[in-house]
Amino acid sequence: MTNIIDIITALSSLYMITTLIDNLFETPKNLKTLKLNKQRNMEAYNIIDKFPNTEVTQNQTIDDLENILQNLSYPNELKEIIITFKNYIDPINFQVCINRLTDLKINHFDLIHDIKKYLQNYLNDGIYLPKENTIDIYKIFDKNSVLSHEFLHMASTLKNQTSGFYTKLDSCWIGNGLDEGYTELLNQRIFNTKKISYTYNIEIIKILELFFDNPKDMEYAYFHNNIFKVYHTFLKYGTKKEFFLLLQTLDNLIETDIPIYKKVITVKTKIKLYDIIKRSNDKNKILAAKKLLEKDPLIKFIKNKNLIKSKPIKQYKYTKHNS
Ligand SMILES: [Zn+2]
Repeated sequence: MTNIIDIITALSSLYMITTLIDNLFETPKNLKTLKLNKQRNMEAYNIIDKFPNTEVTQNQTIDDLENILQNLSYPNELKEIIITFKNYIDPINFQVCINRLTDLKINHFDLIHDIKKYLQNYLNDGIYLPKENTIDIYKIFDKNSVLSHEFLHMASTLKNQTSGFYTKLDSCWIGNGLDEGYTELLNQRIFNTKKISYTYNIEIIKILELFFDNPKDMEYAYFHNNIFKVYHTFLKYGTKKEFFLLLQTLDNLIETDIPIYKKVITVKTKIKLYDIIKRSNDKNKILAAKKLLEKDPLIKFIKNKNLIKSKPIKQYKYTKHNS
């Protein structure tokens, strides 16, 4: 594993070079974003322990879920999504979205609007606006996967208008990258949508899920706006500093668009999480994390190179090259 980290570090240097080249042209925006994310997560690091790991309680009982659903009025486009969601989800995670469904609005935008948005560099395919309880769909093709993604943002939005893991600590917001990645992971898992959005975040979050003894506990935390539960679960094996570095990385991945940066930082983060999971001494968890790691084509490629390196003669040659 050390060899892999060496190679990743070498690739990071390559990233620095490409960043410099990019910077000469048009990416100061990206660098500024990385800096802001770092500042924001450092601020959150200093105050997170002030916030207790409390559950948000719901008034509504779930015994009469079927009745409530039958009496609801919701847009036609949503019917199938709601049925699929209800069949998948634990009833206790369904409470939040029931209240919102009654007056949920969906706006589809036309092609001209879509092009205009793209020209303004507004690259969202859709958005959920908690205050208005409205989903705006910008994407013309593959609308359904956007609708179900935004539906999940709605279904995880509580009264304080924060959704999923996106959380306000005093005046600073954290967890955006974690929230988007996990939302899209659930979108693929529940609605079987195509794997096109937030792919790097999802790869990392799948390893993070292994910190929970039961992955359903992470779902519960998501549908109850409880990033603190994720934080405390992470602390079983990891440190506070490692947790915030993870949040910062997940934010960076969705807010920048430098491909080599995204790939390198994702591989590094996955290896880091694997190393943290090894501290659990839980054989099943370690094996599951290893399996996820080995799905990465770059890690697989580097591993194969290591196999060649381990032959004595070739190793001599490599050493000579390096010196
Ligand atoms: Zn989203």
